[in-house]
Amino acid sequence: MIPAHLNFAHLKRCVSILTVLEAKGVTTPLTKRGDQLFGPCPLHGGDNPNAFVISLSKNLWRCFTGCDAGGDVVELVRRLYGKNYRQTAAFLATLAATEPTSQTASSLQPLKKSFRPFTARLHLNASVPWLRQKRITPTTARRFEVGAYQGGGFLKECIAVRLHDLDGHPIGYAGRCLDTNQVKQYGKWKFPPGLPKNKILYNFHRIKSWHRKGVLVVECPWGVMRLAQLNIPAVALLGIHLSAVQNDLLEKISPVVLMLDGDRAGQEATVRIRSALEPYTKVYTITLPSGLDPDDLSDEALSSVTRHFLF
Ligand SMILES: [Zn+2]
Repeated sequence: MIPAHLNFAHLKRCVSILTVLEAKGVTTPLTKRGDQLFGPCPLHGGDNPNAFVISLSKNLWRCFTGCDAGGDVVELVRRLYGKNYRQTAAFLATLAATEPTSQTASSLQPLKKSFRPFTARLHLNASVPWLRQKRITPTTARRFEVGAYQGGGFLKECIAVRLHDLDGHPIGYAGRCLDTNQVKQYGKWKFPPGLPKNKILYNFHRIKSWHRKGVLVVECPWGVMRLAQLNIPAVALLGIHLSAVQNDLLEKISPVVLMLDGDRAGQEATVRIRSALEPYTKVYTITLPSGLDPDDLSDEALSSVTRHFLF
């Protein structure tokens, strides 16, 4: 029995062709005509602007020149990364966990245009056991506008985390889902539909004036908050992929200290991100013991592993 979150039918619905290309760092411009996007083929690497066609409504792709092949997201990942089916399922599941949940293949569109910031402020409970377990104090939670959401809808049963654009304007909330069934099905995090996640660097607006001595980069907002309690400037990628925008911001800061999760995905991402940033700035990496995230560490451990790099 394949676990629900590794089920291909589910993954094909959840992950768009565009997300796979973005994750791979494919930046070639795509032209939209009706329901289709056209561009050079990212697989065989030609420069014919009409070689590669994506159907947005069907979430399918086809290369009409060099590859003369096509298929769905599964086939695209297999060809782009040379992964087998099991690895492909695991990879798509990590992308699905960061994909806006209400987006289905039938409503797929280029993300940026459809997103409307949600600027209203929600009433959140900052004094909840889940945050205490993460050792995030109510004061920090209120400062970061984080807490349990008691209403229904998209953030039901979630710890909500307010998101801001790079200038600090609120744009909505992400939800860390606490319902185990939903986590199994959709992953831990929920993001607002259409959120241009690749244009966000979580907490950047708060640290941009005081990162002279460098910045810590983690995957999740919890790591950022834990480090903030120790007066250490940090940002979160909201996942394991470094977008072009995030890359541009980080390459101007020195040093950049990568402290991603201590799982395989985090370690592989560390290698990738390090090599992307290293030509431009000083990069250090902190490897956490297998299975540990930054927010699993004690305050003492966090400050001792980070201190050498920033101060
Ligand atoms: Zn091709």
